[in-house]
Parts: sequence; C-alpha cells; structure tokens
Amino acid sequence: MGSRRLLAAWCVTASAWTASAASPAAEKLAGIPVLAPGEEAPAVSVTWYGVTTLLFDDGETKLLIDGFFSRPLFEGLESIADPDTAQIARMVETEGLRGLAMITAVHSHFDHAMDVGEVALATGATVFGSESTANVARGAGVDESRIMVVEDRRTERYGDFAVTLIRSAHLPMENGGPPIPGTIDTPLVPPAPIGAWKEGGSYSVVVEHPAGTAVVQGSAGYVAGGLDGVAADVVYLGIGGVSIPGKDHARTYVEEIVGATGAGCARPVHWDDFNRPFGEIALPAGGGDTEQSAAWIREFAAAGDPPVGLATLPFGQAVDAFTGCGPARP
Ligand SMILES: [Zn+2]
Repeated sequence: MGSRRLLAAWCVTASAWTASAASPAAEKLAGIPVLAPGEEAPAVSVTWYGVTTLLFDDGETKLLIDGFFSRPLFEGLESIADPDTAQIARMVETEGLRGLAMITAVHSHFDHAMDVGEVALATGATVFGSESTANVARGAGVDESRIMVVEDRRTERYGDFAVTLIRSAHLPMENGGPPIPGTIDTPLVPPAPIGAWKEGGSYSVVVEHPAGTAVVQGSAGYVAGGLDGVAADVVYLGIGGVSIPGKDHARTYVEEIVGATGAGCARPVHWDDFNRPFGEIALPAGGGDTEQSAAWIREFAAAGDPPVGLATLPFGQAVDAFTGCGPARP
C-alpha cells in the first residue's frame, strides 16, 4: 500500500491528476441505456447521487445507502478531509431527507462512509453498519442508541423495509486485499487524513420490501456463495475497478452477485469520478479502466451469462427501485 501506482489503481474513479470534461451525456456508460422516470410514481423509488449513494423511498420510509455528499479532493491518503455540513444540510432540505429512517455504508472508506454521522445527526436516521462505520458515526457525535452494529449478517426493519447486511468483500488490489485495509477502532473525529477511513469490512446490502428486493453491491468483490438463498429483482452493481483483478474476477463477480440472485436488471454504480464536485457525473479521466469494466459487463450480459439486462441511473432523479431495466431515457 502506498505506492502511487496502487493509489492510482484504487482511485479508479478519480482524476486528481488529469482534467476531463464533464457533460450530461457522461451519465451514460457507452452502450448502456439510462433509466427514465416512469409516468406514475413507483411503489418504491430509488435516487442515485453518484458513486454508490442511493436513496430508497416508499413514500413513508426513506433509507440511504452511503450518503456521500461531501466529495473532498482526493490527492492521496494524506489529503485532509472533513464532511461538508453545508452540502449535507442542502441535501436534507432539497431532497426531503429529514426523518430519514436509516443510513448504512457498503464499507468504511471515505467515498462511502465519510458522511454517515453528519447525515444521521441532520436527519435523525439510525446508523446501521460495521463497527468501523459505527466509529465514523461516534466520531460525529451520534448517540449510541441510534447505532446498530453488524458483524456478519443482520436484518433490521424500517417501516415496510427489511434491510440485511451480509459480509462480502472489497474489490481486491494487486496484493489480493482491499486498499486502505484494516478497521477503524476508535471514534473517527474529522478533519482527518483520507487514509483514516479504513475499509472496515465490506457488505452486500439487501433491501426487501413488499414491492420487491434489491441488492446493493458497492465494491466489486465477492464471497463465494455469499448470496446463496438471496433472490433479487434488481442489483445495484459496483463496477469501478472490476477490470483491475482481471476478466476471470469480473466474470465470477457478476456470477456471484447477479447470477446468484437471479436479478433481471443490473444497474452499474460506483463508475463515476468521485473526485468531481457533487452533481457532476463523468467518467474518470481517460476512462480506460471503467470503460473496460463496463465493456466486460456488457459482454457477459449480451451472452446471457448471466441472463440480465443493464441500465444506468440518472443523477438525482427518482426511478422505480425494483422494476427491470426500463423505461430508458431517449
Ligand atoms: Zn472502497
């Protein structure tokens, strides 16, 4: 850990070193349609805010995955970062997050877990996650009574939703392990170096509702057989960096996460450049790794291996959380 190359490889969706132009069309991964809001409000909607930040809402209860709104500039593990409380407050107001029931993080790296505590304080949400994510929340001052810790598998109910966190794996790097490995063992009080947000265990998040079931896989790793017995309508599939460990890894990853759950639609997430300001969605500079990752995912789906449709999510627009890969935006 620590070499520039490894950092650059991990930071597959960042472009601290090279500029590239953002454009609305960049919400699209080549060859994959973008979902459009339907004519009628769905029973459960999902709204994507970049990286793996997803808001589920059934009109009564709201759940937030990651809630990464701050977007500090990542130039290396020593970059000092701090949640952007003004941006979080804007999100609470404009997106109606007050009364949020729960926030969880797919793992505890900064681009997933950094804001969980501040979002919980601003909304009243319960934080559900690993001990490391719990320590991010504690560092922000979230009361222990509103922190639910999971080690391997645990289900919590929020309104008509049931949320299960299942221990999974992070995208492996050249050494076979995650970047910024380890756990956060004491309350993490920001500002802190970005390297302080250690991985802390990665999770598949299963969101069940009478209207359907989704699996959110934020990072492109897997545990063999880890999702056996989980049936999903839609998978939110983290694809950033999946080409780094190679095509065999990519194939097995898709089989273990999408094939195993029988989902009819996979919606790529965590493919956009997380070093851009909130609201700017674009491929990382050069695009190479992400384009390769997306190309392989398209290839597997086109071959029916597994039989699944693909669609990406529009930024900041509510679409049906559980129903297939349509309608697509023209
Ligand atoms: Zn990560």
